[in-house]
Amino acid sequence: MNGKALCEALVRAAKRHGAVFRKGSAVLQSVGQKIIGVEIEGEPLHADEVVVTTGAWAKELCKPLGIEFQIEPQKAQIVHLELPEMNTDAWPVVMPPTNQYLLAFEGGKVIAGATHEDNVGYDTRVTVSGLQEILEKALAVAPGLASGTVVETKVGFRPVAPGFLPVIGKFPGFEGIFVANGLGSSGLTVGPYLGAELAKLVRGETIEIDLERYDVAGAITFEQSN
Ligand SMILES: Cc1cc2nc3c(=O)[nH]c(=O)nc-3n(C[C@H](O)[C@H](O)[C@H](O)COP(=O)(O)OP(=O)(O)OC[C@H]3O[C@@H](n4cnc5c(N)ncnc54)[C@H](O)[C@@H]3O)c2cc1C
Repeated sequence: MNGKALCEALVRAAKRHGAVFRKGSAVLQSVGQKIIGVEIEGEPLHADEVVVTTGAWAKELCKPLGIEFQIEPQKAQIVHLELPEMNTDAWPVVMPPTNQYLLAFEGGKVIAGATHEDNVGYDTRVTVSGLQEILEKALAVAPGLASGTVVETKVGFRPVAPGFLPVIGKFPGFEGIFVANGLGSSGLTVGPYLGAELAKLVRGETIEIDLERYDVAGAITFEQSN
C-alpha cells in the first residue's frame, strides 16, 4: 500500500468534512488528571477530548503525565527498485513464505520490503545488513530483479505494543484522552477502520470491536511519585 497517498487522501477527506489540519509538534496540556487540549508549537488548542495517535513516538508524548506508555519503534527498511524495460502493471503482490513481500506498481517500479528490526531505537540509517536481508530474500523468489536499478531505500518505524497487539480506548487514570496504537505492520490496512471506530467511541456511540481484547491498561505503567 502507498502510505503517503493513503494519508493524503484521508487528510483531504477529513478536510471536506470540516476538519482543520494543523502541522507541528504537539504537547499534551493537563489539569490534574484531566487532559484539556494540546499545545502545538507553543499555541494552545483546547479540546473536550484528545485522541493520541502518535505511533512510535507516543511514549515521549505521554511521559510528562507520569506514564510509561510501552510503545516501541520497530525499524523498517524498504527498497524501491526500477526495471525500466519491464511492464510491471499487472504484476501480483508476492508474499513468499518469509516475513517479506514484493509489490509492483506501474512503470517498472517494484518495492521489496521490509525489515523488522527491534531494539534499535529511532535509527534512520540505511544499513548494509538491512539491504542484504531484503535483497537476498527478494532475489530468492524473483532472481530477475537482479538487473533492476536500486532507486532508493526508505526507513520507517512501526509502533509496537506489548504482545504485538493493538491497544485502543480511553487512557486509564485520566479524563479527556483516548489512544489507538500498536498497529505494527497493519496500520495502513486497519487504521481507517479503527479511526472510524475511535471517532464513534469518543462520541459515546456503540462500536463493533470488543475493546477488552485491546486494553490500553496492559501497555502502561504509572511512574512512582515520591
Ligand atoms: C516501511 C513500512 C511499510 C509498511 N507497509 C504497510 C502496509 O503495506 N500495509 C499496512 O497495513 N501497514 C504497513 N505499515 C505499517 C503502518 O505504516 C503503521 O502500522 C501505521 O502507520 C501506524 O499508524 P499510526 O497512525 O499509529 O502511526 P504513524 O503512521 O506513525 O503516525 C503517527 C504520526 O504522529 C506524528 N507525531 C508523533 N509525535 C507527535 C507529536 N508530539 N506531535 C505531533 N505529531 C506527532 C508522527 O510524525 C506521525 O506522523 C508499514 C510500515 C512501514 C514502516
